[in-house]
Amino acid sequence: MAQNKRGNREELIKERQGLIKELPGWKDILRGSVLTYFLPCGKKGCRCKSDKDSLHGPYYYISVSEKGKTRMYLLGRKRKEAVYAVARYNDMIKKLYRICGINLRLLLARKEEDERKEKD
Ligand SMILES: [Zn+2]
Repeated sequence: MAQNKRGNREELIKERQGLIKELPGWKDILRGSVLTYFLPCGKKGCRCKSDKDSLHGPYYYISVSEKGKTRMYLLGRKRKEAVYAVARYNDMIKKLYRICGINLRLLLARKEEDERKEKD
């Protein structure tokens, strides 16, 4: 049982080291969602008013939640860079959650060991 726990602990530490190594840098991250829209224009008599297939676009936006409000920013040619940065952010968050999960398990396991030692 103790062997099993130690083995599990070592596995968790190894997994955590791997995750830390894989963490992308902070420099190129963006939080938000990249969205694509086809929109009508303001021109009088334009086909886009009556024909959905004649809508203008695609227009690329990034949607970002800031202080409880969702804001949209036009990306244009920066779309590719934004998609990449959002993917990096999401990957980073996923890894941070996993690292925190591992840290919690390690912390709780250590507490049990300490308590056992105190009883002896
Ligand atoms: Zn139009």
